[in-house]
Formats: sequence, structure tokens, C-alpha cells
Amino acid sequence: MNVTDLTVKNDYCIGCGVCAGVCPSNNLYIDWSPRGELIPHTNNLCNDKCSICLDICPFNNHKINQDAITNSLFSKTRNIKYNEYTGYYLNCYVGFRKDTVKRLKSASGGLATSFLASLIKENIVDRIIAVGISEDNNRMFNFKILNNSNEVYSCAGSAYYPVEISRILKEIIKEKEEFEYAVIALPCVAYALRLAIDKIPKLKKKIKIIASLTCGQLQNRFCTELLSLESGIKVNELAKMNFRQKSENNSAINYMQVATDKNGNEGIPQANQELPSHLWHYQYFKQNACNFCDDIFGEVADVTFMDAWLPEYIDNYRGTSLIISRTPLALKLLENSHEYNLKEISVNSVIESQMGLIQKKRTLLKGKLYKSESSNSFYPEKRVKPDFNVYNENREFIDLTTEIQDLSKELWPKYRLDKSTAEFWNELKPLESKIAKYERKIRIKNLMTKPKKFFKKISGS
Ligand SMILES: Cc1cc2nc3c(=O)[nH]c(=O)nc-3n(C[C@H](O)[C@H](O)[C@H](O)COP(=O)(O)OP(=O)(O)OC[C@H]3O[C@@H](n4cnc5c(N)ncnc54)[C@H](O)[C@@H]3O)c2cc1C
Ligand code: SF4
Ligand code: SF4
Repeated sequence: MNVTDLTVKNDYCIGCGVCAGVCPSNNLYIDWSPRGELIPHTNNLCNDKCSICLDICPFNNHKINQDAITNSLFSKTRNIKYNEYTGYYLNCYVGFRKDTVKRLKSASGGLATSFLASLIKENIVDRIIAVGISEDNNRMFNFKILNNSNEVYSCAGSAYYPVEISRILKEIIKEKEEFEYAVIALPCVAYALRLAIDKIPKLKKKIKIIASLTCGQLQNRFCTELLSLESGIKVNELAKMNFRQKSENNSAINYMQVATDKNGNEGIPQANQELPSHLWHYQYFKQNACNFCDDIFGEVADVTFMDAWLPEYIDNYRGTSLIISRTPLALKLLENSHEYNLKEISVNSVIESQMGLIQKKRTLLKGKLYKSESSNSFYPEKRVKPDFNVYNENREFIDLTTEIQDLSKELWPKYRLDKSTAEFWNELKPLESKIAKYERKIRIKNLMTKPKKFFKKISGS
């Protein structure tokens, strides 16, 4: 048995590629599924005694969960504090990179790339593993090995696109040189990497620092294709996508998505909040694994970066970041750098910036787990438990958003080569209207008042 018989078969795979990267028989490879998602495929039958892919898969069940990992990594650090949502933390910061040109090229305040570049400049690691434009025609973005700070800066920005790390892991496991690495990864991938580091001494020796990004959800490849067609570039002409172009006419949260065709012509920029549908809110093309994710803040990472989605920063189109630092080294690098404009911020403000995610990943998750448990098939155990009452209270929302996720993935292949997105929307809009109607009905009860009350409860205010 391998991950294809469990995680993939039950649709809990996020396509991280860690399983294929560590498979000792080279038996797994990552490629697209018909649903626009990266998943492992098998070359041959596995050796019966081998279970390493299952041991490191972030959506399998493990005794060593995120809590066990973070206890062993961070709990004994001097002055460390703990919060049930952020996990361990030494300090939290808000700020941005002083160099405005580099800040404008980044997703938010440009602190993630600055921090990674400083790891090379200060000789803390030799190389960085981050996500940038892929050289492979079949993938728009992917993990890459970066050798210097200029290469790190060239990977600024957020790739809302499936990426996988198998080739890189294979390369560093095989390489003879003693290079040391820092990796930036989404919380689920950071967790898989920690599990892999625990199993494979070579990875433990080489991966010295893991940085993470706060993460709400990951859409499949079709979402990028839809954004392209929406901007007037046909899917088979799409070459590049900038998911987070800043515009001085918009707030930071209303960033532009800009597609470029194979001749270098840009499509019509699409403002995030002015698309024909709020794709993220209605959860179009969302990967099912993300419905079963309880890690908001990349708890196993040494340092986590995110958007400052707080009223006092949203209006600044240049972008502002929040940081959670969990190790003395990260703290020292952040506090000593003259490249950032940084100030301390309370952990409660960091939590407040992600209230919607906390509601999804900690409360609604209980209902989703209940639904999976009732179906009697495999589901990944989480740090919150299945709860009938949560499911019952949110049943319509959970069922309708699951339907939109599935239907959008099923229907897009039929419309992707169209000249416009009109027919696709015609099929999906009735379902979206049902969710909107439901939300209107319960807005005050469920989606607005509860997070606020809930925040008052956790912050004690
Ligand atoms: C799928 C996804 C969902 C996210 N959801 C949220 C959210 O809900 N709330 C929130 O506050 N922030 C979220 N973020 C993080 C946010 O988009 C910014 O990445 C973060 O604020 C850091 O901005 P920056 O300007 O400091 O980073 P930059 O200086 O722009 O550097 C970004 C770094 O992230 C790396 N990177 C880009 N895409 C990926 C990827 N897919 N996987 C791994 N590394 C990547 C780049 O290589 C680069 O090193 C998400 C990011 C992604 C990729
Ligand atoms: S989630 Fe990652 S480790 Fe698990 S099966 Fe998918 S690609 Fe492999
Ligand atoms: S929501 Fe969770 S599972 Fe989905 S990509 Fe983000 S960290 Fe991974």
C-alpha cells in the first residue's frame, strides 16, 4: 500500500510531492490529475515493507502531529509563548521592506523574500528552496533551488497554483556537496517536510530552516486558467500569471491578477474583489485537502509570513506583512536588519487578521470531519474532533461549497477552450446564488457575529 491507495484515492492529497521526493524506489512521480490537481502516480508495485510515503504524508494520520513536532522543536526555547491558534511564538511583527521597488514586486510587505535573502547574505544557509516561475512547459510555477539573493528576489510574489517539491528533494538527497538549505512552504508542506526530516537523516542534515506562509486555501490549476480567460487571454495562449500585482488605485486586499500571453501581451488586469464571482469566498476550484487543514499559521515553521489584513494596513496598496517568529535566530535576523521597517505587534492582532481562517480551519472543520466520519471512509484525523452540532448548524454551507468545489473542477475542462467564461458561469451561478441566499439568511447568526464574539472570547476584550 502507498499514498495512491489512501490519501489520493480518498481525495485528501494536496500534491506537495514530498512522498515522491523521498520514495527510495523512485516508484512515485507527480503529475496532473484530470481535475487540474497535482497528485502522485505509481511506476511499479511497491516493496511490501516500505511505508515511507505514508509516514510523511501530511494528510495521513500520525502519532507525531503538529503539536508533538512543535513541542519537541520549540517548547524549551527561552521566553517562548504559546497560543492555541498560532502555536509557539517568540515574537510577532508588522512591517514592510524599505526598498519600495522590491516591496511592490512582493505579495504583501516583501518581508518573506527579504528574510530568505538575508539567510544567504549572512551565510546561515547556502541555498534557498522557494517557489518561482517554472522552466517546465507543463507547470507555470514550481519549487526551485536559489543560489543567491538576486534569485531569491526574482521569486517574490504568491503562487496561487499547485506546486510540488519532489524533484528538489530527490536532488538534495542524492547530492554529494554538503549544502545547507532553507525552505519556504505552505503549512501542510512544512508539516510533510518536518515528518520527512525525522525519517531521513540526509534531509535533517541539509534542511536547516523552514519558513511558512499563512494559508487559507489552494485552488487547482483551472483557477489560473479561468483568471486568464476572464482577462481576455485564451487558455492555450496563457504564458504567465501575476496573482498579486499592486495598484495605487486599489487597497492592498483588492490586488490585481494579470495574465500574460505567449507573445508577452498582458490581458485586462482583474481586480481580486471585482471578478464576476468572489472565487476564494465561494471556494471555486479549492482542493479538497484544504477542507481538512487545521494549521492556519504554519505552526511547525521557524518563521511565518502573512498579509496584514487589519483595518489600519489594508488601505496601503504597497502591502504590509505580519510575521510570527519562533526561533532566536529568526528573531535576531529580523530585529537586526536595517532593510525592514518593523515593529512588534500583539499575537491577538495577528489572530484578528486571520479570523475568517480560524472560523474555517477550527470551527467549520469539526462539521466537515463529522460528515467524513459518517461516510465510513478514511479521513485524516485533526486536532479538532468531528462534531454533529457544527455540521448540523452549517450543513447547507458545507454541502453547497463542497458542491461548488466539485462542480467547478468537473465543468471547467468542458469550457476551458471557449472564447469567454460566460457558459461556465451560466452553469455555476445558480449554485453560487444558493450559497449567497443561505449566507444572507444566516449572515448575522453564523458568518458575522460569531467570529467577532469568538475573537472577543479569545482576546479577553
Ligand atoms: C496558496 C496561498 C494561500 C495564502 N493564503 C493566505 C491567507 O489566507 N492569509 C494571509 O495572510 N496570507 C496568505 N498567503 C500568504 C501571502 O499571499 C503572502 O505570501 C505573504 O503575505 C508573504 O508576503 P511577502 O510580501 O512577505 O512575500 P514575498 O516577498 O512576496 O515572498 C513570497 C515568498 O513565498 C514563496 N511562495 C510563493 N508561492 C508559494 C507557494 N505556493 N508555496 C510556497 N512558497 C511560495 C515565494 O517563493 C517567495 O519566496 C497565502 C499564500 C499562498 C501561496
Ligand atoms: S499530500 Fe503530498 S505526501 Fe501526501 S500523497 Fe499527496 S503529494 Fe504525497
Ligand atoms: S489550506 Fe492547508 S492544506 Fe490547503 S494548501 Fe493551505 S496549508 Fe495546505
